[in-house]
Amino acid sequence: MNYKISKKEIQEQIKDKLTHELSVEWQDATDEHYYKAVALIVRDMLVKGRKKFKDVAEQTDTKNIYYLCMEFLLGRSLKNNLFNLGIEDDFRKALSDLNVRLDNLYEMEPDAGLGNGGLGRLAACFLDALATQGYPAMGYSLRYEYGIFRQKLVEGWQTELPDFWLPGGQVWFQPVPTRAVEVHFDGFIEESWNNQYHVVNHKDYTKVLAVPYDLYVAGMDGRGVSRLRVWAATSAEADFDMKLFNGGDYLRAMEQNAMAEVITKVLYPEDNHPEGKSLRLTQQYFLVSATVQDIIRRHLFRYSTLDNLPEKAAIHLNDTHPVLAIPEMMRVMLDECGYGWDQAWSIVNRTVAYTNHTVMAEALECWGVDLFRRRLPRIYQIIEEINRRFCAEMHARGVDGQKVGRMAPLNDGYVKMANLAVVSTHSVNGVSKLHSEILKQTVFQDFYTEMPEKFRNVTNGIAYRRWLNQSNPEYADLITELIGDSYIHNAARLDRLLKYQDDKAVLEKMAKIRRHNKERMADYILKNNGVTIDPDSIFDVQVKRLHEYKRQHLNALDILATYQWLRENPSADFTPRTYIFGAKAAPGYYMAKQIIQFIVNLGNTINNDPRVNEKMKVVYLEDYRVTLAELLIPSADISQQISLAGTEASGTSNMKFMINGAVTLGTLDGANVEIHEAVGDENILLFGMTTPQVEQAKRNGYIPGNIYQNHPVLHQAIDEMGRGFGGVSFQQISDSLRNSDPYMVLADFDDYVRARKKSMELYANSAQWYRIGLTNTAHAGCFSADRSIRDYATEIWSAEPVPAHPKIHIAPSQK
Ligand SMILES: *Cc1c(COP(=O)(O)O)cnc(C)c1O
Repeated sequence: MNYKISKKEIQEQIKDKLTHELSVEWQDATDEHYYKAVALIVRDMLVKGRKKFKDVAEQTDTKNIYYLCMEFLLGRSLKNNLFNLGIEDDFRKALSDLNVRLDNLYEMEPDAGLGNGGLGRLAACFLDALATQGYPAMGYSLRYEYGIFRQKLVEGWQTELPDFWLPGGQVWFQPVPTRAVEVHFDGFIEESWNNQYHVVNHKDYTKVLAVPYDLYVAGMDGRGVSRLRVWAATSAEADFDMKLFNGGDYLRAMEQNAMAEVITKVLYPEDNHPEGKSLRLTQQYFLVSATVQDIIRRHLFRYSTLDNLPEKAAIHLNDTHPVLAIPEMMRVMLDECGYGWDQAWSIVNRTVAYTNHTVMAEALECWGVDLFRRRLPRIYQIIEEINRRFCAEMHARGVDGQKVGRMAPLNDGYVKMANLAVVSTHSVNGVSKLHSEILKQTVFQDFYTEMPEKFRNVTNGIAYRRWLNQSNPEYADLITELIGDSYIHNAARLDRLLKYQDDKAVLEKMAKIRRHNKERMADYILKNNGVTIDPDSIFDVQVKRLHEYKRQHLNALDILATYQWLRENPSADFTPRTYIFGAKAAPGYYMAKQIIQFIVNLGNTINNDPRVNEKMKVVYLEDYRVTLAELLIPSADISQQISLAGTEASGTSNMKFMINGAVTLGTLDGANVEIHEAVGDENILLFGMTTPQVEQAKRNGYIPGNIYQNHPVLHQAIDEMGRGFGGVSFQQISDSLRNSDPYMVLADFDDYVRARKKSMELYANSAQWYRIGLTNTAHAGCFSADRSIRDYATEIWSAEPVPAHPKIHIAPSQK
């Protein structure tokens, strides 16, 4: 697919879009107008590209991939699409003639923040990789009117502001009202028998209309294009507004409308912590019901049967949030298509696969039966039947009753979403080698002994063209200069950088590029935080959601201890260091919000203390999001990945940092284990307990108070934390550390301090530092999302890409 377009054509199309779609003449248009005009042009190209891609996919009968996820953390689209289509320079020049700077247009685009963190960002990276690898794929999600909240820090305390992103964001989405479907809630079920047919009647239900909006993502070179279909909720009664109005019932109609629209009003802002709210259950079912109807309609249109669905489509559930797709598929096949249970079950089971994203007990989703049954009466019945049959089969196999209970989708008055997923799908995977092993040994141990063949691993990956080429163009240019550009299609080729490990000139260039990126970041920090930082200092970065398991407070505790030492020893030898944080906390997660305030207030104290502030600076970046990550990560020297071993499923920011040449300072957790395998002991700073050591320490009875009592440095730091900073006491954090310390911060403290000191020694020798950095980039190829997607395709979906040069017989009428 060739997307080349002449300068003149670009300019004509821009003027055309401005006049006809945005009602402004080009001479009067603002950057915002120009951004929208360019976005609309690119969108048109993508729609065409998708059409061609799908035509070939259909002619070659290529399997479709459907990726269901409640979150897609897309960030911005314009630069990514221009880059992948290979037309960024053409647009830059065309705009420049009109006195418009493309880089300014990029800044007009709001982040599409339809996700909380790693889970949603993974889904977004996968759309890119699916397109690049040539798989005809659709993502399905919700069109939240408000994405993840904007974070504003008021005296260090996180406050949340609504993220109304649609005014600038919706240009990418094409409404498809002809594909709207109805979703039914509430009511009751009437069953009867009619000549051996089981007739199910859902009565008195509430109707909501799901209207799709489509966004397209170009893969590299634009051969493949992925489609993300997001559903917006609106009242299905809208047609009757006028009738109701005439009948004097206009207000009730409007009320119904408002009730329906609430469903896709806002993204739930909890990461790894389900709330169990009725509206959230409603969102989940709304997504899967609309999606399943859409997939089945498309399949039936083409094949007139669902018998071959498993051969022609793979449906993937990203986490348990869309697991109700399983009973929903059963409902459609049983109640609407006339399938019998066994055949429907076999089709569902062979079509659907599930990825688990966490092993933490509090993150496993359960729904109270009463709420569930009331809201989704037919789906509840189907889950009861799934449960009944599963338990019967296990009992028949002689499985112990307690064990059957632990595996049952319905138990203790709850619908257990993870159990439902494992019971109903043909594949269950974790997202890093370590995580996939832990799944088999802990949360899914019972299942693993009964059905080991279901379990797999697919290590996460990133859309590295975004995170390296687009975010760090100078470094990407250097790499291309050294090894050519084949790595842009095949990340494994990055290993060709290894031969430059000891090339002084290359390492110096790398240092210069890092220095540029740090200056850029320092400008941003001065402007946004009012803090002057030294671009020659070590940029030591921890950015990710704020969660106790990720242990931002371990990082902060060491900063505090270092501050205490340095203010007593102001002339000590200490390489200047800038500690950078960025993280949003769930609005109701009080401890997390206190940790933010602790870091901010501690930072203010340090930044204003002349005894230390030439050597230490602490910066808390407000509103951490994809676009800020793209600016920040290329400037990092150190990547903090310090979760308690066994708690972080994979991590993906660790991969983004690594490919940009930062050094991981981390525990043997999640994908850090594989990063270590890839780079070797010399090129990573590991510290802390391993997962078995954590378990052993817990079995031995972990008592943080003992460490506190016998450790003068920790004692002093925790005491000062309790006394407070900036007039605020952080007693609750210090009490938690001394009394329970659920994530074993104190146990890993000494080793953390040691590893951080070592980073200072390594940094002192610039050639050595950038040798490590270059080695990290060279080994980052296996963390490409392209590789993840190939793994999913071969190991789980049994899918092939659309052939690059298909031999297709084109009938004359098809042209
Ligand atoms: C990559 C990314 C994440 C995930 O970070 P982890 O450190 O893997 O948890 C979260 N938020 C944003 C904005 C990201 O880009």
